[in-house]
Amino acid sequence: MADSSVADVDAQALLDEANSTSSDSTEPKFSLELNQDQKDIKEWVHGFAANVVRPAAEEWDEREETPWPVIEEAAKIGLYSFEAVGQFWADETGLTLPIANEELFWGDAGIGMAIMGTTLAVAAIFGQGTPEQMGEWIPQCYGTPDDVKLGAFCASEPDAGSDVSGIRTSAKYDEAKDEWVLNGQKAWATNGGIANVHVVIASVDRELGSRGHAAFVIPPNTKGCEQGAKVKKHGLRASHTADVHLDDCRVPGSCLLGGKEKLDERLARVREGKKAKSQAAMQTFEASRPTVGAQALGIARAAYEYALDYAKEREQFGRKIVENQSIAFDLANMKLEIDAARLLVWRAAWMGRQGHKFENAEGSMSKLKAGEVAVWVTERAIQILGGNGYTREFPVERMHRDSKIYTIFEGTSEIQQLVISRAISGFHIK
Ligand SMILES: Cc1cc2nc3c(=O)[nH]c(=O)nc-3n(C[C@H](O)[C@H](O)[C@H](O)COP(=O)(O)OP(=O)(O)OC[C@H]3O[C@@H](n4cnc5c(N)ncnc54)[C@H](O)[C@@H]3O)c2cc1C
Repeated sequence: MADSSVADVDAQALLDEANSTSSDSTEPKFSLELNQDQKDIKEWVHGFAANVVRPAAEEWDEREETPWPVIEEAAKIGLYSFEAVGQFWADETGLTLPIANEELFWGDAGIGMAIMGTTLAVAAIFGQGTPEQMGEWIPQCYGTPDDVKLGAFCASEPDAGSDVSGIRTSAKYDEAKDEWVLNGQKAWATNGGIANVHVVIASVDRELGSRGHAAFVIPPNTKGCEQGAKVKKHGLRASHTADVHLDDCRVPGSCLLGGKEKLDERLARVREGKKAKSQAAMQTFEASRPTVGAQALGIARAAYEYALDYAKEREQFGRKIVENQSIAFDLANMKLEIDAARLLVWRAAWMGRQGHKFENAEGSMSKLKAGEVAVWVTERAIQILGGNGYTREFPVERMHRDSKIYTIFEGTSEIQQLVISRAISGFHIK
């Protein structure tokens, strides 16, 4: 007994010492405990998702229209604003952005995308623009609570989806007028044609493939930038998706993100055979992958919770259906997969925020896993609800439709596997 109490004292002394050292230390401490700010933001976004987004979900899915009144509500409480996204992003752990996205998309993914779709354009301006460009264009992506606006990011084209090097939209510099002239067709642009600000990826030198790309802001009401066909979709139907046509669309020289000097330097490096530091579209996708993964997680969690509650209520053969192992094990695995995906999302978000290089394509891992989990979990949720799951009277059918896009956009699951396999092997896997 005496020995053990000495050991206790020593252990306590060591713990005290460790605690005092770690609190003085500037070394990061490992913790999965959310801090008070993170908890407050989670609760705030959850409240909006539960009270405003969810009740509107079915209506806007059926209408297949942008839910302007819901976006306005989000703007009124400050959720649809650069200040909010900036605050989420500012969290030095990197976790607040995925946490907020998970909560919002738990409410509904179609409306969630209508609110968050602007962020892709904002991320491009934030990631590639000069401070002046950020100050000028980011506020115009959001507008004001009384006059909300949207942003659109246009990289994909009919013949350039996974293969962004196939982008044909061209940008030619008119030196005499200091203007860029854009021509081409963009496909599947979220908020395309209805956005106030479009960010367009165009080729300034086709011979250089994706290394010859640059990002341009198309200011509001620019002649030659028009919406093409609006796409009718399987899911995410409250989010507007459309082609965008660029016909001799002239924008001031100042609309080239990052500026001409930087572009010329980069192109010169590439032409000399040196490695380019960045590629315009890939840079935007890289940074946004964990956030997109978090959106998929929100859908998966919503479907899992619904199915769990249902299984605890529904009776067949004189017992709750959850009392059957096959149902209970499915639910256990759904929870397991969601939590595993969340850990990958949080790791990638943390790495991104610390500026760590994704040596093993951790951003792609997070998006790949979360997207696949969302499709699988929502499909299982339909199965657990049986016939009810297959009808539009119950939300899991919508969640399943919404989830599918997460294995397609921002890099399909196959492309994520390609990125991961190249990163881990060092080989140019095809
Ligand atoms: C609802 C929605 C919203 C979108 N929003 C935007 C947006 O805001 N901005 C934007 O720029 N784009 C957007 N997109 C486009 C989206 O990013 C593309 O659809 C996606 O990148 C896939 O390209 P793709 O459709 O041309 O498919 P493809 O590239 O034609 O791929 C078809 C299939 O082939 C597979 N494949 C292709 N290449 C390989 C390979 N090398 N190895 C193995 N398999 C391969 C793919 O994985 C896929 O299964 C959106 C799309 C949708 C549907």
